Order: sequence, then structure tokens, then C-alpha cells
Amino acid sequence: MGDSPIMVWDSVLSDLRTQIPSTSFETWFSEAQPLDYANGALVIGVPDSFKKGGIERRYRETIEGIAASVCRQPVSLEVRVLAPNSEDASPRPQEDEAAVTVTVGGTLPLNPDYTFAAFVRGENNRLAVAASEATADAVARNLKKPYNPLFVYGSVGLGKTHLLQAIGNSVTAADPTRSVVYTTSERFAIELIHAIRKNGTAAFREKYRQVDLLLIDDVQFLKGKEATQEELFHTFNELHGSRKQIVLSSDRPPEDLAGLQDRLVSRFKWGLEADIQPPDFETRMAILREKAVTRGLDVDHDVLELIAKRISSNVRALEGALVKAIAYAELQGQPLTPRSIEGILPKEGRRPRLTVSHIKEEVALHYQIPLPELDGASRKKEIAQARQVAIYLARELTELSFPSIGREFGDRDHTTIMHAYSKIKLLLADTPLLNADITDLQEALESRYSLIR
Ligand code: ADP
Ligand code: MG
Repeated sequence: MGDSPIMVWDSVLSDLRTQIPSTSFETWFSEAQPLDYANGALVIGVPDSFKKGGIERRYRETIEGIAASVCRQPVSLEVRVLAPNSEDASPRPQEDEAAVTVTVGGTLPLNPDYTFAAFVRGENNRLAVAASEATADAVARNLKKPYNPLFVYGSVGLGKTHLLQAIGNSVTAADPTRSVVYTTSERFAIELIHAIRKNGTAAFREKYRQVDLLLIDDVQFLKGKEATQEELFHTFNELHGSRKQIVLSSDRPPEDLAGLQDRLVSRFKWGLEADIQPPDFETRMAILREKAVTRGLDVDHDVLELIAKRISSNVRALEGALVKAIAYAELQGQPLTPRSIEGILPKEGRRPRLTVSHIKEEVALHYQIPLPELDGASRKKEIAQARQVAIYLARELTELSFPSIGREFGDRDHTTIMHAYSKIKLLLADTPLLNADITDLQEALESRYSLIR
């Protein structure tokens, strides 16, 4: 991928969006813009120092980690506050959806490094890889499509984007005349909004309905975007009807895509659903070896083993840890050994599963109120709000239903719980302080407990 500031920042955003709660994403990043990228230094601009401080405190490490894996070298982040009338500050986007990304185009270039050859196979991804290869082959040779659509799903950092792009790269390599379009559901939405504004929906439709292979990444973000779902539904029908290939990815299987129209979900299930699971230890080692080799690095087996042991559920994080370990050893002027990098890797041992009691303890501590008050009947403002925040977090971070959460909060009725939840959700949209509180709480909880979502 060309390392222009926009490209780097865009990749960072699309990853970040899948890693942090959407409310936090909107709060901190909707107005951030890339200013510069050179020699491993990424500079972004934000409108005020509140945002600058927040991004630096909360997200610096995550952003630098993602950027390092995108740019294949350590990246340092600099956040600048843009003067309101500065040259750099372009007009603020008018619509929320448009505010999410910086560039307008709907189609993204394929990353040439995302190939089948560079994708390590394991028990965790066997079906997804085999189906992707068969699909690429069928498109390239214009054969009958074995699965249409192919629906690849799995949690973040397990290789969905890599596989989708590998299909695209493989088709283009075999037959450059095939028209391949790769996009994300969000970009598809943004492009549609622009097309509607500029009265260009005809051109938009034309473009999408003429492709041989349509790859749409992260369709879970279609949730709540009715016009986009409508458009995709028609595009899908058109392509499927003319035997063109559609490949979709999502962080969950079609049946769990709440907030999507049934008719769209049912079409997503017409072909094959292939999942990707977290890689086992052997596969993690193989991936680390592959990543070291492609970077031209000779890293000791012991070092790779330590990293593979400590990081298990996300290949992106695995890769990030390798890059970080190498950079760290270089900075310290030490050889890269298990001992020298031990301190920068996450600690071993399973984190306990998050429960409502953990949430209550954290919230009580955060707001400095006695724990039993959260179950009690007090309507004092601070206490009522803390209780609502705890309820909100219980709903967001655990799989409990409203009635079960009610039982955990002094046997409250489920309607009371639903009310509290919606109230906080609504407030979050325009209360940055509450938003920051909740982000802090959530991050504190996520760092100590494991979440099932
Ligand atoms: P997702 O889209 O599922 O969040 P990505 O496709 O962005 O995940 O993968 C994250 C990173 O991990 C990418 O750099 C990708 O190349 C790498 N990766 C994931 N799985 C594998 C694999 N099996 N072999 C090699 N690299 C992998
Ligand atoms: Mg992805």
C-alpha cells in the first residue's frame, strides 16, 4: 500500500473502528484528519486540545501498533491541534456517516501483499481459504461459481480482509481484464451518500452492477444504514442474477447480523458461510515465521515462541508484537532475546471472565460511591447516574438479557433496566464527559477481564 498520510490514516481508522466501541470512535476520531506521514512519523490534526489529550492518552499505543503493521516499520504518532481557520482545517463534514472517513472514493486499491501465498493455513481457517481459492479460480476462469455469495466471518484480526483481497489479487493476476471491486460496507455507504448528493446514483449503480467480482468487507457496519442496505440488496440481485461473484466478510455469521434487513441476511446465506477461528499455537508460530521472513528478519525460535505463547487471539496483534519487539530491542541496543522483550509483551495467564459484580465494583470506585447504593433505591442524582452507567455497561459488555440484569441490580424490573440503558445510550451521543467516563471504565474492565461478546 502506498504510504501516503491519507492511506495510512485510513487503514488505521478502519482497523480502529473494529477495535473500540463505536461511541468512542465517533467522539475521538470523527474530526481527526491526516496531515503528514514521513519517515515513520504520522501527524494528525484535531480541532481541540481535549481531543488531542484524549487520543494521546487512550489510543496512542493502539494507533501506533496498527500503523506499524500497515507501514511495515515502527510509527510514532503526533497529534496537533488545528487552529480554527488554519489552512489545514478543511470544512467539517456535515453528516455523521461522512465524518467517519476522510476520502470519498468507494473503491479501495488492493494491497498487493495480501496474497494466498502469504496466507498461512491452519485448522482455524482451512475451509475459508479453500473456499476463497476455489472462488478466485472460478472467477478468473469464468467457471460456474461454487459458492455465491461466499461469506467469510470471524473476529477482528483473523485475516478476513487479507483473504478477501487475496481473492481479488489472484483474479487480477490471472486475468487483468476482469473487473474486481473491493470496498468496505462503510465506504460503499459513503460513496452512495455522495452519489445521492451529486445526483449520480445512476453512475453509482452502473459501476457496481458491472463488476465480475464484488468484495465487500465488514458488512456488520451496514447496521442502521437503510438506504445502503436497500442499494446493496439491488446490487446483490443484479450481480447474482448475472452469475457474477460476490464475497462478503463480517465479524459474525449472517444470522447474528441484527439490524440488517431479513431479505439481505437471507441472501447472504445463499452460498457458503466459512468461519475463521483464532489460530492454534502451531499456526501462530507459522504465521510469525512467515511475517519475519517477508520482512527479511532473522528472529530466533525462542523469541517467536514467546510471542506466540503470549498472544493468541488476534493475528494483527501477533504481528504488531513482533514489530514492537524488534523495534524495542533495536532502541535498547540489545540483541532480540526472550529476556529482552519479556517486559513489553502481555502477561501470561487467563483473565477472569467479566461479571456484573466486576462492573459494579469498577463503577462504584470510579464515581466514589458505596457499592450497595448501586442495588439500592436512592434517587440522588450521582447515584442514579452511576447505577445507569453500570447497567449500560452490563448490557454492552456481557451477554445478559435485560431481565437478568434487573435481577443483578436489586431485583429491578426489566423495563427499568431498558430505560436506564437507553437513557445512557442517548446521553452518550452529546455528552463528551460521560463518554470519556464510560470509555475509561470500559478500558479498565477490558484490560483486567475477558469479555464474551
Ligand atoms: P480482519 O480483516 O479479519 O480483521 P486482517 O485480514 O486485517 O484481519 O488481518 C490482520 C493481519 O493479520 C494482516 O496483516 C494479515 O496479513 C495478518 N493475517 C491474518 N491471518 C493470517 C494468516 N493466516 N497468515 C498470514 N497473515 C495473516
Ligand atoms: Mg478487516
